[in-house]
Amino acid sequence: TYEWSEDVNRVLRHTFKLNSFRPKQLSAINSTIAGQHALVVMPTGAGKSLCYQLPALIKPGITIVISPLISLMEDQVRLLTIRNIPAKLITSTTSRDETTTVLNLLKDKNTPIKLLYVTPERLAKSKMFMANLQKCYADGRLQRIAIDEVHCCSQWGHDFRPDYKFLGILSGMFPNVPILGLTATATAHVLNDVQKILNIQGCLVIKSTFNRPNLFYKILEKPTSQEECVTILEKLLKFRYKGESGIIYTNSIKECQDLAEELRKRGLKVGCYHAQMEACSRSKVHSKWHDKYYQAIVATVAFGMGIDKPDVRFIIHHTISKSMENYYQESGRAGRDGKRAECVTLFRMQDIFKVSPMVFSSAGNLDKLYGMIKYCLNGKYCRRQLIAEHFEEDWGLADCNKMCDVCTNPCSVLKEISLENHCQAI
Ligand code: ADP
Ligand code: MG
Ligand code: ZN
Repeated sequence: TYEWSEDVNRVLRHTFKLNSFRPKQLSAINSTIAGQHALVVMPTGAGKSLCYQLPALIKPGITIVISPLISLMEDQVRLLTIRNIPAKLITSTTSRDETTTVLNLLKDKNTPIKLLYVTPERLAKSKMFMANLQKCYADGRLQRIAIDEVHCCSQWGHDFRPDYKFLGILSGMFPNVPILGLTATATAHVLNDVQKILNIQGCLVIKSTFNRPNLFYKILEKPTSQEECVTILEKLLKFRYKGESGIIYTNSIKECQDLAEELRKRGLKVGCYHAQMEACSRSKVHSKWHDKYYQAIVATVAFGMGIDKPDVRFIIHHTISKSMENYYQESGRAGRDGKRAECVTLFRMQDIFKVSPMVFSSAGNLDKLYGMIKYCLNGKYCRRQLIAEHFEEDWGLADCNKMCDVCTNPCSVLKEISLENHCQAI
């Protein structure tokens, strides 16, 4: 225990209304409060935000949070505000007046602000912002710099953003201010690169496993006719997943609407969710699913953020994801309660062509799709083993516990098709 341990537990319960920490959250929190630079690697949804939000409230001063996505920042500031945690943000869409107000709050010795969210461009391009941050630092009020989606600084990651490169100056500019980088990208190559770019070589790396032992992974052969596809889904929902909640992911808005319609015609209670819907009808669908009026939501990948339903028992991919990272993230919404849940993918070769135009734009992305196809075509190796290898982890061969189709019943698995032939076809 540390001198702050009592406070940490109190803030967890009273401010964040949570009962306990998830794996590795506490070590991340303790090391950053202790003033160490650290990289936190956890799967999406594991709870990385708490690793900087909670420490921000333990000691005096401001935590700067650098994040690439305005919508995510707005979401977080909204949630923090609900919990009475003083947080602000400055993005490219913040009005001039509001920006001035926030910048003054940054300079102000008596500021109530505990967390300030900024985009990397703000750091990279605004002299005004940097001047005020310097002032904050000089007054001893810059408590910590958290960099969310920190893999964005590396060209080896899947989401390189040039403005993130500039963050390398921070460790030299603000000595003794701990930097906390957070990401779901686990490869050693990217993590080393990130440390180099940020000038925090040899920092602590706190990594939680990507293994979800309660998720059963499975591939089903997808019929050519839509009619038969719908029949498979109908059977799954009416029998195997009777009375349970789940999500069916589709590849496009059209497919999403059509499939929902077909399933309704067969007497199933399903909602439909995609990005072109109004925010209010989206949240209506979401809550009908939450309250178990809908058994399943037929969705595009737009359905993801803010899903906090613990008892999702099945995630069916009607069409493959565009990468293993995406698949892991989407399927990972199942079984948050720790009880068994199933992740089923309907796979057929033709679908590669449906997904590939979207990913053709860059060769790197095509590589990512290739990983997904390899996972689907595999009929020999434990599917969890493939996921573990993808995230450069070793879950131990014995660890599947018959939680994938290959380990359960090798004969019933899709016959392995020669990868080479098909990759020439792409
Ligand atoms: P990440 O950034 O790793 O993808 P988030 O920080 O967005 O994940 O958290 C995902 C969800 O997990 C949020 O709804 C959050 O409230 C919840 N969460 C985080 N930590 C805990 C915890 N210790 N106990 C329960 N829920 C948690
Ligand atoms: Mg996050
Ligand atoms: Zn297995």
